Amino acid sequence: MTTQAPAPTHQTTTRSRLPRINRRAQFARRARRADLLVTLLWASGAAAAALYLAYGGASQMTTVAGFITGLGILLGLVGTDFILVMLVLAARIPLLDRTIGHDRAVATHRRLGKPALYLILAHGVLLLIGYGMSTGFNPIAEIGPMLALPDMPLAFIGTGLLIAVVVTSLVAVRRKFSYEGWHLVHLLSYVAVAFALPHQLSVGGVLAEGTVQRVYWIALYVLAFGSILTFRFVEPIVATLRHGITVAGVTQIAPGVTSIHLKGSKLRSLGTAGGQFFIWRFWTPRTWWHSHPISLSAVPTDTTARITVRDLGAGSRRISSVPAGTRVSIEGPYGLFTDAARTAPKMAIVAAGVGVTPVRALLEHAIFAPGEATVLLRASSDDETYLWDEVRAIAAAKGARLYTMVGRRSPVGPSWMPEEDARRGVTLRSIFPDLGDSDLYLCGPTTWLDLVEADARALGLPEHQIHAERFDW
Ligand SMILES: Cc1cc2nc3c(=O)[nH]c(=O)nc-3n(C[C@H](O)[C@H](O)[C@H](O)COP(=O)(O)OP(=O)(O)OC[C@H]3O[C@@H](n4cnc5c(N)ncnc54)[C@H](O)[C@@H]3O)c2cc1C
Repeated sequence: MTTQAPAPTHQTTTRSRLPRINRRAQFARRARRADLLVTLLWASGAAAAALYLAYGGASQMTTVAGFITGLGILLGLVGTDFILVMLVLAARIPLLDRTIGHDRAVATHRRLGKPALYLILAHGVLLLIGYGMSTGFNPIAEIGPMLALPDMPLAFIGTGLLIAVVVTSLVAVRRKFSYEGWHLVHLLSYVAVAFALPHQLSVGGVLAEGTVQRVYWIALYVLAFGSILTFRFVEPIVATLRHGITVAGVTQIAPGVTSIHLKGSKLRSLGTAGGQFFIWRFWTPRTWWHSHPISLSAVPTDTTARITVRDLGAGSRRISSVPAGTRVSIEGPYGLFTDAARTAPKMAIVAAGVGVTPVRALLEHAIFAPGEATVLLRASSDDETYLWDEVRAIAAAKGARLYTMVGRRSPVGPSWMPEEDARRGVTLRSIFPDLGDSDLYLCGPTTWLDLVEADARALGLPEHQIHAERFDW
């Protein structure tokens, strides 16, 4: 491991000249917003169940058949509510991104998938049993009369699509698809939810015309689909047209790693913070059909930006050779891997491999006094030390301490550091003696990142002080 001591204090970066930011208050505000969101999530489920009670559903649950039918309707309402919440979580709403971060929104979206499907399936099965009991048919025979009800065929197709979406999202099945193939199937969930609406409005009385329940339910649909339309389609199209981003040039900076230099107009007005990422689409015949989340590797100026891409698959390989002049669509900026997410006075920053990209931009953008930030850069070999010169220069200019570690991971342990360092007794604590007073920013390969994160947790660092940027959602 090698060290670079902080540069001498520069007049413009002394603590007294830096803007005063109350990080604790900032964090408390964000935590309150996050709590409110979780409360809203559960409250919306409870409200869906309450719609059935407001309709007087409890009075119909007095017989066994009535109870089963009522329970089926209730679970259908809650399941649909969960799916609408999932759409909102996937809509990339800026307020959600600023509050919990895009990765947590996607993780919550994913966690709700199976329960929502089970509720919808239970809804269908219980209704078949309940109706079958009251008409004297067995549940299978009940499918025929049920399909004859208005809008029911659409609802059945919607359920089938939903099953396809959830099954293709199971980890083992998802691995068999390309990202784009899986994403295409996933888009069917919008169709599935839309197909379910007509039968909800026309069959049964819970959402009958002229009721408050119906207004509330339609408002939920408008919120979910409106968010998707606004933030996934309209805003990105407007931003793309407004900023007119094109490729200025591509430079190879290491084997399999290229920096793509971009130019555009009024880029500062995007309000991008160092450490954030965009979803990029390059309009060439070979690349227009796939988009990729990639962090900025430098803070943009008003007319230029830069990303650094490692060839990790067919898509990233193709975008690494796009010609100058290629038009680029953007979605973003996204992510909480920024100075704004800080909760503690100091920064401890660890990056490995291509994980250096957001870290370089974060370091450039973050506000700290000399001695308040420590950076550890990690590479398996000298070939992987790209952007390190730039990080060195920024660290020297801003007074951050910099450590570097090159070498393969120690097989003993398992360990996230080279064998030699592990043997010499180097630890996270020895590199970052002020870890408890720091926010820990981590970016790098998933298995490596998990080990560093586990180490930090074992040292007692609280969850809110750990900010991990994962490249594998
Ligand atoms: C927040 C974030 C920031 C990133 N920043 C950088 C960076 O600065 N530099 C860099 O080299 N790499 C970065 N990546 C990783 C980069 O996005 C993937 O390596 C790239 O998309 C892989 O695509 P592929 O077609 O080459 O490989 P594939 O083999 O097709 O994909 C490999 C994996 O990449 C992921 N992936 C692919 N496309 C997408 C997509 N559109 N949306 C979400 N995940 C996708 C999937 O998990 C997929 O399984 C980042 C990823 C994320 C999530």
